[in-house]
Order: sequence, then structure tokens, then C-alpha cells
Amino acid sequence: MSPATDRTTDAEFAPGSVALVGGGPGAADLLTVRAMRLLRQADVVYFDRLAPTEDLAVWAPRARLEDVGKRPGHHKVPQSEINRLLVASALAGLRVVRLKGGDPFVFGRGSEEAAACEDAGVPVTVVPGITSAVSVPAAAGIPVTARGISKSFTVVSGHDPLSEEELAGLAQLGGQGGTVVVLMGIGTLGHTAAGLMRHGLDARTPTGLVERGCTPEQRVCLAPLETILLASAVQGIASPAVLVIGEVVRLAPGAELPWSGLTGLTGLTGPAGNQLTDLVDNA
Ligand code: SAH
Repeated sequence: MSPATDRTTDAEFAPGSVALVGGGPGAADLLTVRAMRLLRQADVVYFDRLAPTEDLAVWAPRARLEDVGKRPGHHKVPQSEINRLLVASALAGLRVVRLKGGDPFVFGRGSEEAAACEDAGVPVTVVPGITSAVSVPAAAGIPVTARGISKSFTVVSGHDPLSEEELAGLAQLGGQGGTVVVLMGIGTLGHTAAGLMRHGLDARTPTGLVERGCTPEQRVCLAPLETILLASAVQGIASPAVLVIGEVVRLAPGAELPWSGLTGLTGLTGPAGNQLTDLVDNA
């Protein structure tokens, strides 16, 4: 591949261009050296809530900082508007950083932002980031692959409920020992867990949820697949969280899977608590 087509090139950050920068899972020291270098030169930074932002004013001292993510009491800026802002800022001659959580091309709509820039003739580079799909399980001591235990991992979006075909495919992968990683999977956790079991995945398959991984607020919830919804409701696990399903979860410290067979619980909270309440109401 010629340097001109390498979208992750380390060339100088030119005025009038956009850098789509992966911010990693949330810890400042998991930003890459290249991310830091581009932030230092940026004139404007469009960031969202999953990227590390606590010291953004220090990392990007020359830049105007624009929050385009969800904030309490504010609506998320629509994707079309983000695309428009990136292009307009670059056409105005600015060095534009679009700082995103994790890796820009993993469920981050980075490809749409890159395409919008290219359509407008704006040069765009991509700075890969550490994706939460791998780093967040690791932060809880869960390796997504392990010799003799799992030789594949599949990353899926749980943003929309998985279809029967998708659930069947994942159950088959899981049944062969593959690890299943679900991002944006809290709102659909009950559907996913029940669907995988319906398609034959063992109800005792070790399952983990890692909330706010790689940050000081990290919480881990471990349970067999059959009780993960209940366990997460008890702990009130909320987004952002990564769901991991597979034998590798057994390698996590404290993975004695304590929730097996638990009954008679009260005080369920969070998105999983609501899903359980719905299940009971509709039973
Ligand atoms: N591009 C991002 C993913 C964006 S989708 C990446 O590569 O990581 C957003 C989802 O990522 C969240 O719903 C959650 O499932 C996951 N996520 C991102 N950061 C996380 C973190 N620190 N802890 C737990 N989950 C995280």
C-alpha cells in the first residue's frame, strides 16, 4: 500500500484536515502517543462521552473543545450534524480532531465520518484506538482468547435486539468454544441471554459484565448465562458495559459464579431490573 492510501499515516497534521482519533476505553494513559500528538496541534476537538476527557484542555491547549455526545439534560448531536461540523471546520482551515471512545472503526460511526470528509474533499486520517471490546474484559482479568480454552472471539453490537439467525450463529460459535463479546448490550441483555440459550448454548456458560472498564469506577458482574440478567439487576449494572460470554470468563479473579440458582431477590435496579420486571409482567 502506498503512503497516500494509508489512512493511519503519521504525516504532519495539516490545516484543513480531519483526524478521527480513537481515545481508548476511558483511561487517559490508554490514549496513544499519536493521539496525544494530534491533540496538541488541534484547533478544534469534537469529543463524546466515552473518550477520556478529564484533561482535554491540557492535552489540546490550542483547541476549542466541543462536546457532541450525550450529556444529562442535553440531546446527543445527530450524526449528520457531526459530519457537517467536521467538514465545515476543516473547510475553514482548522486542524480538526474527532475524538471517539475506543477505536473509531468499532461501532463508532467512524466510517461515516470519514466518508463525509472524503465526499467534501477534506483529507482525513484515522488514529486507531484501544477498543473496549478487548481492553475492558482484560481490565476484569478476562482474556478474550486463551490457549486451549478459546481460539476465537466475535464482537457484536447489542444496540438492536439480535435476530434469531444472529443468535443461532452466535450460539453455535459459543458452543464451539468461541468467546462472544457484546457492546451496547445492556438494554437487550435479557433478549440476548434467553436467545442464546434457546439456540442451544449451555445455560451454565460463564458470563461477565464489565461496567466502566479501565476506569476507577469499574464494576464486574459474573454469573452463569442463565442468571446474568438477574445478577446484573441486583448490582444495578448500567451502560457503558461490555458483555462477555464464554469459558474464558472463568479465568477472571472471583469467577466462582456465585449467582447460580439464586432465588427470591428483591430490590432489582437498573436497565436489567426493568427488563426483569417486564418479563414478570408479561409472563
Ligand atoms: N468504538 C468503541 C465502541 C463504541 S460503542 C470501542 O472501540 O470501544 C459503545 C459501547 O462500547 C458501550 O455501550 C460499551 O458496550 C462499550 N464501552 C466503551 N467503553 C467502555 C468502558 N470503558 N467500559 C465498558 N464498556 C465500554
